[in-house]
Amino acid sequence: MEIKKIVFATDFSESSVNALRYAVDLAKQYGARLYFLHVLYDVAKTSGWYVPHVSMDEMYKDMEKSAREELDKLFVDEMRGYEGIERIVLKGTPHEEIVTYAEEQNIDMIVIGTHGRKGIDRMIFGSTAEQVIRNAPCPVLSVRLPRHLK
Ligand code: AMP
Repeated sequence: MEIKKIVFATDFSESSVNALRYAVDLAKQYGARLYFLHVLYDVAKTSGWYVPHVSMDEMYKDMEKSAREELDKLFVDEMRGYEGIERIVLKGTPHEEIVTYAEEQNIDMIVIGTHGRKGIDRMIFGSTAEQVIRNAPCPVLSVRLPRHLK
């Protein structure tokens, strides 16, 4: 089995950050490249609201900057000394962007949290996890928070 490219998809939730160490360990063991991927919700696309282009562009610039800073923080904590990591910030619907990215980049494995920012109260998987698992072109490792952290 060859695992040369791993995507760690994060919404910066506790659940996804908990999954990070699995992505890091796998990357180290397989000598794989690791892609830290965050998707900014495309508000106009999902809500159908009309928002003037200029203010949308400004808002996304700010959001992208914040997302990159958050990704940088993950780098510092978990990946000291490891080369071969990329930060990716995309815009759209998270599960669609994650799956499309994996298809286009020939990703070998995706690591995600079983739950995201919306919490763990729901009886079913969160929508991103479920859709990624259903549609990804590669295996998906979905990591659940340990019981004591819930
Ligand atoms: P959810 O299904 O929305 O509860 O989220 C499950 C997991 O999907 C999270 O723990 C993250 O690993 C990933 N995820 C959710 N939203 C995003 C996002 N906007 N960008 C990247 N990954 C995400």
